[in-house]
Amino acid sequence: MDCIFCKIIEGTLPSKKVYETEQVVAFHDIQPKAPVHIVIVPKKHIPTMNDLQKEDYALLGDIHEAAQQIAKDLGVAQSGYRLVNNCNKDSGQIVFHIHYHLLGGEPLGDIVG
Ligand code: 5GP
Ligand code: ZN
Repeated sequence: MDCIFCKIIEGTLPSKKVYETEQVVAFHDIQPKAPVHIVIVPKKHIPTMNDLQKEDYALLGDIHEAAQQIAKDLGVAQSGYRLVNNCNKDSGQIVFHIHYHLLGGEPLGDIVG
């Protein structure tokens, strides 16, 4: 499958990983929009939020658990951070493997992932 994030998950494409469990991986965004810009993905290939099934809902909890831990590890838990999902064209989604941007490290204003 020609999916950049699946390749990162498999390790065939390099990335700077900051978190990994059986279900979830997180890594530094290649074009950061804030001092902290991490991409959190489930290992399961789900193209967009529209494709989430009830059986996948536990992954959303896993992703929030990852976000909490990463924010703590990278020192933005108290200063603040934003978790963003883009779904389809108008949102600006360019990688069709569901993911959440964790942004922080400065006042974010209207910065989104
Ligand atoms: P989207 O616009 O789909 O929500 O965001 C996709 C994000 O993935 C973008 O912020 C983009 O910079 C990031 N990205 C795209 N290709 C790569 C890559 O090969 N490695 C990493 N680490 N991030 C990538
Ligand atoms: Zn994928």
